[in-house]
Amino acid sequence: MTDTAARPRTYEVRTFGCQMNVHDSERLSGSLEAAGYSRAIDGDADVVVINTCAVRENADNKLYGTLGMLASVKREHEGMQIAVGGCLAQKDKGIILEKAPWVDVVFGTHNMGSLPALLERARHNDEAQLEILESLEVFPSTLPARRESTYSGWVSISVGCNNTCTFCIVPSLRGKEKDRRPGDILAEIQALVDDGAIEVTLLGQNVNSYGVEFGDRGAFAKLLRAAGGIPGLERIRFTSPHPAAFTDDVIEAMAETPSVMPQLHMPLQSGSDRTLRAMRRSYRSEKFLGILDRVRARIPDAAITTDIIVGFPGETEEDFAETLRVVELARFSSAFTFQYSIREGTPAATMPDQVPKAVVQERYERLAALQDRISWEENRALIGARAELIVANGEGRKDSDTHRLTGRARDGRLVHFSVPAGNETPRPGDVVTVAISEAAPFHLIADAPAGTRLDIRRTTAGDAWDRAQAASCAVPEDAGVGIGRVSLGLPTLRR
Ligand code: SF4
Repeated sequence: MTDTAARPRTYEVRTFGCQMNVHDSERLSGSLEAAGYSRAIDGDADVVVINTCAVRENADNKLYGTLGMLASVKREHEGMQIAVGGCLAQKDKGIILEKAPWVDVVFGTHNMGSLPALLERARHNDEAQLEILESLEVFPSTLPARRESTYSGWVSISVGCNNTCTFCIVPSLRGKEKDRRPGDILAEIQALVDDGAIEVTLLGQNVNSYGVEFGDRGAFAKLLRAAGGIPGLERIRFTSPHPAAFTDDVIEAMAETPSVMPQLHMPLQSGSDRTLRAMRRSYRSEKFLGILDRVRARIPDAAITTDIIVGFPGETEEDFAETLRVVELARFSSAFTFQYSIREGTPAATMPDQVPKAVVQERYERLAALQDRISWEENRALIGARAELIVANGEGRKDSDTHRLTGRARDGRLVHFSVPAGNETPRPGDVVTVAISEAAPFHLIADAPAGTRLDIRRTTAGDAWDRAQAASCAVPEDAGVGIGRVSLGLPTLRR
């Protein structure tokens, strides 16, 4: 894609929201690059794509605030285009063009692959394009991707959700669950591994109902085991399971597949059975705690994280006390806690007994204090233990100040570690083994005394990082892989 001066048009994708959106943004970037666009490096993009989220609080304000700022940028930048996609676009449709008529393209969650064509049509016809499909056009994973990491990749196994949690907008925006065929998933994982990745995260709104569409209730456990058989794939993670559908065959597959990591994100949402019923979440707190017991019996070092909503409509002090009780018993390593806020279009939005903001805030602070205490206690228990880390790229925001590097442990914990003088510096994607020396609620530190030898294992992911660096310096490189390369979603079409 070139502009009138035959220069490739540049793009920028801004992502609001969850991992699913981040992954979708890789697909949007890949589709644009496959169509000839190049990524803007100076922040002055010809095309700005906003991939929106309707689930998180304030999504509307954030979108329209950003669009307001972009209006003046566009006035100064001839030929600039603005596209809005994702969940909020799926929900608001034409409202976006009414509120922000300077937007050129609005597209939904089901037709991401059409973005380059819609941009071109908007330019050609000099008219905004709105295209929202109500059902999935192409499975997102068959679109090209521009992967953000050499060592780790996300792989969609399903999109959509058949549940009807009353606080959640996903079912109406992403539609019914669509499962991808196991062979396609495994081929994509193999393609990632061939490109140097050593870790994958399997993504779905509700991963353990995977297979429901093609009639195999044991499909997710089988998929974990099959992925575990891919040589060179060191770490497999997945997000998110639903407690109601979490079966023991998945626990067995996790325990018996060495490359499935001892990490589980299991959304609790509330500890009160009454509130769970109102949320239309079909498990109860005892069932939830029973799952954690069985996971820990088979995988004793599992780090379990969760999501919790505070102040759901009708939540009483007794209900909230139940959440505190379950959190105390569950010993989560960390929790994403949310203050309930009305999401238009969800059943909970019109429920009576909305909890006043001040009450929600006060409960939220009590819950956060409890979870911080537990996270810190759990992290302190790891002081002195050894942890194997994949060296990360860009996860430690303070690394340049502290002269540390950052990595993720097998259980998903973030560890900042020092490289004692005299050691080589590991590359992103290499594996180091360190001793934990300090703990904070949200991270661990591994500082080794001067003179200590750092235990580094060079990996294919580190090699891929080297190749990417070489490529970005324009050094000819046969392999042609690495950060920023566009991989085709269809493995058979890979270079
Ligand atoms: S399981 Fe519930 S919260 Fe999760 S995506 Fe489906 S409806 Fe939403």
